[in-house]
Amino acid sequence: MPTEYSNYVDGKWTESRTGNVFETSNPAHPGETVGVYQQSSEADAEAAVEAAAAAAPEWANTPGPARGKILTETASILSDRADELTETLVREEGKTKPEASGEVQRAIDIFAYYGAKAADVGGTVKAPSGRDSRLYTVNEPVGVAALITPWNYPIAIPAWKLAPALAAGNAVVTKPASLAPAVAIGIVEALESAGLPDGVVNLVTGPGSSVGSTFVTHEAVDAVSFTGSTKVGNTVYGQAAPDQKRVQLELGGKNPAIVMPSADVDEAVEIAATGAFGVTGQACTATSRAIVHEDVYDEFVEGVVSYGEGLSIGDGLEGADMGPHVSESELEGTLDYVDAGRREGATLETGGERADAGEGYFVEPTIFSDVSSEMRIAQEEIFGPVLAVIPVSDFDEAVAVANDVEYGLSASIVTNDHREANRFVDEIEAGVVKINEKTTGLELHVPFGGMKASSSETYREQGDAGLDFFTISKTVYDNY
Ligand code: NAD
Repeated sequence: MPTEYSNYVDGKWTESRTGNVFETSNPAHPGETVGVYQQSSEADAEAAVEAAAAAAPEWANTPGPARGKILTETASILSDRADELTETLVREEGKTKPEASGEVQRAIDIFAYYGAKAADVGGTVKAPSGRDSRLYTVNEPVGVAALITPWNYPIAIPAWKLAPALAAGNAVVTKPASLAPAVAIGIVEALESAGLPDGVVNLVTGPGSSVGSTFVTHEAVDAVSFTGSTKVGNTVYGQAAPDQKRVQLELGGKNPAIVMPSADVDEAVEIAATGAFGVTGQACTATSRAIVHEDVYDEFVEGVVSYGEGLSIGDGLEGADMGPHVSESELEGTLDYVDAGRREGATLETGGERADAGEGYFVEPTIFSDVSSEMRIAQEEIFGPVLAVIPVSDFDEAVAVANDVEYGLSASIVTNDHREANRFVDEIEAGVVKINEKTTGLELHVPFGGMKASSSETYREQGDAGLDFFTISKTVYDNY
């Protein structure tokens, strides 16, 4: 039986004024409905913003440690529900069970982290130039924050926006992506049970073009934190600009892993393949280009093909190594890129077809070799398990190819040459730089964000940087 979900507005679970609903289905078994959600309208979104605006002053005046206590309690409630949330995440989004369980744990850890951090939201004291005076800053919440999130990390991304926003004393309106809203609703249920006052968090499901857009343009919204595609992010930026709202955009990627001759090739294969095929390649930080020195090229291609062909594909609840695409249209998008790669003359080494794993949206791990940098499969975000292997003849060429895309999110190099590794740090255009590590994965206490078309480059997320976006500072001169 599918679960029916409501919006959460002003502390009440409510149905949309439209009276309409939409459903999600299990990408491993598309006939199975997972959840039924409110197909909300602009009016529902407006009511959510009004509730947040009304609740914001009282929450801002609640002492940081008291706010933190609610977040810590939320972490504990989510922890009690971890198994159930993991299963729902697998059934709605398609990750494997270990991937989903790791993501749920990340959400729990994020609430625990910002629960503790809420006591640190203060300011700084500076030395005044005059006697008998004080000079300091105080950090205040920005006000009402709109949080708009994608489907591919449906609990971690809402968590890493909600927890710092609330820790810093903001009221929030949020809209999860329509392909997988259930686990974000699970967070809001936990916040309610933990005692968050009415109106401080409001969640509305429905289309981005109406609900999301109303959040972005509403005059009572002070800040917009958006994660999603570069195309939609650019629209959001334009819509928020006339009111000079504070905006943070984290967008697409085309992440490279460079493999140099000094690398241990088995290690390089593991790093590139886990980055490419983990979470079915549906990660903004997925490795989609392996840029490989000609001296180790043949050995690398052989190794990575054998890795891809060794993966089992199927329902994430049944122990598969790689789950399905989230939807039929994402699957078709990947297969279209396979056609494009073939037409442009790349060599299809393995994969490229729907996987023989049932009626779900399964695709084979796919590897193209002989790719050149101007091909579409080397330039555009595919968001599927497709790795383009590009041969190069030296370090300078490798970095030039790595930087030859519009994106700049995460980048990795596999090398045992210390100088090369350090030049990579200096020369690569990416917000996350990894040496002998896969492009995916980042700990919760370090800043996360991209360069170029991958990010608005205004504020980073996570760690201390996560709080910066949600606070505004006042400078105080006190001449006593
Ligand atoms: P998307 O851009 O289609 O949607 C993201 C969210 O925006 C959804 O909730 C959607 O409903 C909403 N939306 C759509 N139109 C809107 C509008 N006009 N106004 C306001 N909101 C609107 O992205 P997606 O398909 O859900 O997610 C995949 C994309 O997200 C990929 O490009 C991926 O790289 C990116 N992503 C980036 C990061 C990062 O941190 N850089 C992390 C995860 C995913």
